[in-house]
Order: sequence, then structure tokens, then C-alpha cells
Amino acid sequence: MRGINLILKALNFAALKHKYQRRKGDEHLPYINHPIKVAFIISEVGKIDDPIIIASAILHDVIEDTETTSDEIEKEFGNNIASIVEELTDNQNFEKQKRKKIQIKNAPFLSKEATIIRIADKIENIEDITISPPIGWSYERKEEYLEWAEKVVRACKNVNSELKDYFFEKLKKAKTELQKNHN
Ligand code: NDP
Ligand code: ZN
Repeated sequence: MRGINLILKALNFAALKHKYQRRKGDEHLPYINHPIKVAFIISEVGKIDDPIIIASAILHDVIEDTETTSDEIEKEFGNNIASIVEELTDNQNFEKQKRKKIQIKNAPFLSKEATIIRIADKIENIEDITISPPIGWSYERKEEYLEWAEKVVRACKNVNSELKDYFFEKLKKAKTELQKNHN
């Protein structure tokens, strides 16, 4: 499939799948803004234009957060993209704390494609924590989230230095902002 076609197909598919979901911040942005931003960070910061990676980034939360199955992704987008999205999907059979531990433990073994998306996903989420945090989150909860995201990214292979460096830049900013608002 032509690259642009694949990307637009993924956008259409993910937008429909996430159509009833909103981000948790006080702006209640449509959920699809998150995967779009993740894909944009990969392109803008990581300077990556591989359509497989961009399309997988757009689709990265559809199995975890919607009724979509891996088989459906495979049918629509092929097994390469389905397997990348699967790598990025937490096993919902475990409780949240366990899922978080597993994400750190598995980070070094992610494929190059999934590593790129994992790091960009954490960049976008810590940016959100800074700009439009989930409603009701205490200082401690935001701090815990930043600490966990840092552990995940530190455990990831260095497949794209720009993205890793950008994560730590954003993390520093997020910690400063959080501290400033706490005092
Ligand atoms: P959640 O998993 O509940 O929420 C974080 C996830 O929500 C992100 O990874 C992101 O996932 C998605 N998300 C949607 N909207 C936003 C937004 N505006 N900003 C950021 N993320 C958004 O949180 P955690 O369980 O990770 O909470 C962090 C810690 O807080 C945990 O370690 C837990 O122990 C602790 N905790 C504290 C509580 C308290 O009241 N003190 C209660 C419960 C937990 P995606 O990329 O998939 O969209
Ligand atoms: Zn995500």
C-alpha cells in the first residue's frame, strides 16, 4: 500500500474506533488527538517517515482502549502493524500496578518500531500531565506517573537519540512545572 494511503487509512480507522473517547484532561480533547500527536512527535522529533511506524503509532491504543482485536488490525493493515500494536498493548488480565511493572520489564525487548512509539507515547503523556492533566490527579499521582514514565523510557533501547533526548527535556520541564504549582 502507498505510504500516504496507509497512514490515512489508519487515521480513519483509529478515529472511528476512539470516537466516543476523550482525554482525561479538563479540555476533554477527543482521544484521537493523542495518537495523532504521538505520530507527529515521531515525524517531527524523531525525523522518521516510515509509514509502517507512523500508521502503528496512530493505531497504538486501539486494542488496549477499544473493542478492536489484533485479528482485525491484521486483516486491515497486515501482520507487521498488528504485531507492533500488540507489543504496545498491556495485558489487561493483570491489575494496573502489575501492568506498569511489566511495561518496564519488557521495555528493553520491544522491537525498534515499538520502542519508537513507546517513547513518543510517554513524551505525549508527560506533556499532557503538564498542560492538561487528568482531572482530580493529586501532585503525588502526577509525580508517580512521571517517575514511572522515566523508568519505562530508561529501560528502552536507544533506537533514536533525538526522541530519547526530547523525552528527558520534556521530563525536566514537567518536573519543574509540577514543583512550581505544588509550592
Ligand atoms: P492511569 O493509567 O489511570 O492514567 C494514565 C494514562 O491515561 C496515561 O498513560 C494515558 O494513557 C492516559 N491519559 C488520558 N488522558 C490523559 C491526560 N490528559 N494526561 C495524561 N495521561 C492521559 O494512571 P496511573 O495508574 O498511571 O496513575 C499513576 C500512579 O498513580 C500509579 O502508579 C498509581 O499507583 C497511582 N494512583 C494514585 C491514586 C491516587 O489517588 N493517589 C489512585 C490510583 C492510582 P494512553 O497513552 O493509553 O492514553
Ligand atoms: Zn497512548
